[in-house]
Amino acid sequence: MDFSLTHEQEQIREAAREFANEELVPNAARWDETREFPHAAVKKLGELGFLGMMVDETWEGAGLDTISYVLALEEISRGCASTGVIMSVNNSLVCHPIETYGSDAVKETFLKPLAAGRQLGAYCLTEPMAGSDAGATKTTAVRDGDDWIVNGTKIFVTNGGAADAFVVFASTDPAKKTRGITSFVIEKTRQGVSLGTREKTLGIRASSTMEVIFQDVRVPAANLLGELNRGFRVAMETLNGGRIGIAAQALGIAQAAFERALQYAQDRRQFDVPISSFQGIQWKLAEMATRIDAARLLTLRAAYIKDQGENYATAAAEAKLFASRTAVEVADEAVQIHGGYGYVAEYHVERHYRDAKITEIYEGTSEVQRMVIAASLIKG
Ligand SMILES: Cc1cc2nc3c(=O)[nH]c(=O)nc-3n(C[C@H](O)[C@H](O)[C@H](O)COP(=O)(O)OP(=O)(O)OC[C@H]3O[C@@H](n4cnc5c(N)ncnc54)[C@H](O)[C@@H]3O)c2cc1C
Repeated sequence: MDFSLTHEQEQIREAAREFANEELVPNAARWDETREFPHAAVKKLGELGFLGMMVDETWEGAGLDTISYVLALEEISRGCASTGVIMSVNNSLVCHPIETYGSDAVKETFLKPLAAGRQLGAYCLTEPMAGSDAGATKTTAVRDGDDWIVNGTKIFVTNGGAADAFVVFASTDPAKKTRGITSFVIEKTRQGVSLGTREKTLGIRASSTMEVIFQDVRVPAANLLGELNRGFRVAMETLNGGRIGIAAQALGIAQAAFERALQYAQDRRQFDVPISSFQGIQWKLAEMATRIDAARLLTLRAAYIKDQGENYATAAAEAKLFASRTAVEVADEAVQIHGGYGYVAEYHVERHYRDAKITEIYEGTSEVQRMVIAASLIKG
């Protein structure tokens, strides 16, 4: 067992930290308030190689391991949770399935610009009647000569408003349910693709959570990801990796909230002493630090198992379950340590508190993570 990072992994973490401190921390509160999508920061992330971190260099990715990805994503999310999810979706939910399941032609067309950060991608699985039960998709794709005609509405699509390409799941054989779903990659510019409502979210307000509508969209059969009717597997396998990313995002949010609480506890004086001298506050800080450490270890372990090429589905679910709860609890305590100041925007922890909650919901709710973990425990 070796807990040390390689020199390269440390350098990547340092580069991400520097970028976050310079470009994200000073702007995150404003983006949160205005809900402005951080286009310029995302472009710079791409130039740094952070949008296609695990993609092979052949396809203009950075060719790095999952541990490096986790380290960078934690730092970016510490700076701005919205930017964290934008980065996570492009890496985990878009580049990964295109690289794993796309043909060389699809990789040439779609993966290269997405991995290099010249374009941005989004993942379209959820629908009004297909949330946790993602197999209940109503979006259809019907064969027409060499093409498929896609019809349906996807909701809650992160990066929706900014994306150039969408990974889309559609039913190609409704009678077969999950065994009749196929995955496609679809350009924003195709006729019939349009954007619907942008949601007014509790947190991660700068990421664009949109409805994406596909109306008689003609898609070449060459845009299929993987085999016909095997798309549900693509969706689930992709989410396994995505969960490691969301665990890292949760860690970044928790770390940001913790750092602010630790500082505030030493600055704020009541009863003529810093509040950090009270045991009640010390125990909170000790508990927060321990939980963050445990969440980080679970997240890095999931990344390590993935990098070894072993089955990491349960480890990823455990990491997301624990890290997301940690983010919510740590941000809650950070608000508490700030007292009334924690409840106002100027002190930032209320934003961390709002940002943390989504990590327990997307890419599988915490209840779904428990289902995944339980299924690995209870056989037959
Ligand atoms: C800001 C935001 C960004 C998102 N980004 C994306 C994206 O980029 N792409 C995308 O495809 N989707 C995205 N989503 C959708 C997200 O993944 C879903 O909201 C999530 O999977 C839950 O689905 P649902 O909202 O329909 O809730 P439901 O599935 O209706 O769940 C409601 C409640 O019931 C519980 N529940 C459901 N089934 C069970 C069960 N079997 N046992 C126990 N409890 C259960 C859930 O845990 C939850 O507490 C996003 C959502 C949000 C809010």
